[in-house]
Amino acid sequence: MDRRQFLKIAGLSTLLGIGAAATVNVFRRDDLEAYQLEPGPDGLKAKRWGFVVDMSKFKNEEDYARVRHACHSIHNVPDYGNPKDEIKWIWKDDFEHSFPEQESAFMAKEMKEKPFMVFCNHCANPPCVRVCPTKATFKRKDGVVMMDMHRCIGCRMCMAACPYGSRSFNFRDPRGKDENGRPFIKELNPEYPTRTKGVVEKCTLCDERLARGLRPACVEESRGGIVFGDLEDPNSEVRQLIAKYYTIRRKPELGTQPGIYYIIVGSENA
Ligand code: SF4
Ligand code: SF4
Repeated sequence: MDRRQFLKIAGLSTLLGIGAAATVNVFRRDDLEAYQLEPGPDGLKAKRWGFVVDMSKFKNEEDYARVRHACHSIHNVPDYGNPKDEIKWIWKDDFEHSFPEQESAFMAKEMKEKPFMVFCNHCANPPCVRVCPTKATFKRKDGVVMMDMHRCIGCRMCMAACPYGSRSFNFRDPRGKDENGRPFIKELNPEYPTRTKGVVEKCTLCDERLARGLRPACVEESRGGIVFGDLEDPNSEVRQLIAKYYTIRRKPELGTQPGIYYIIVGSENA
């Protein structure tokens, strides 16, 4: 994109009342120094990262909350205190919303009502990437769908394109406080960047942890509920689970090729 095209889009975003704040000061300089985008020499590597979520391991509210807290606290995800402004990297949703077209009138009530752990699918064919006018969101060679906050102009095209609701927009300043003086970021992690008003954010597959040779935080905290590995490696744990159990993916009919597979029933603890 040349400068003229960029300014046209930025101007349109401003006219629409969105994104003006997003063009500047998205990360503080000290944040940037701590933040690594590409794996270092000790980083974990794969041809295509993916997940298997074994729903039998999510037995109670605490199992969901622990995983969500791990992700949101290390990534400085703000909590604005109301669902309208909610920022979510990983969350729970019911079967009907998570897997429309795959429910049936006769399916077990427990399954229909069970919450599912959902997050960005790091799709092989991601529509969010195709529509982003500034290339702020892009797919890495290893399948991670990334966000470059410096480039995000807050136009929200990616949000409209994502069929999974995996992206959130900061309508407010995440570094700010509520009317009672409580910060929106409850426990600030100084090692991870904070964002600004007017920026879209989402799960980045813990790219900063992969770069340091660590597994994603949700995987660490899930006690076997979320397994992670190389989908292109037939010997990886994810591939073995997919071969052993019947799995489903979210909205496969759209051709996005989601990288998260769900074991609904059939594992040892189901
Ligand atoms: S789940 Fe949505 S945000 Fe994530 S890669 Fe797929 S289309 Fe993009
Ligand atoms: S991979 Fe990392 S960023 Fe994505 S949901 Fe899991 S903990 Fe959050």
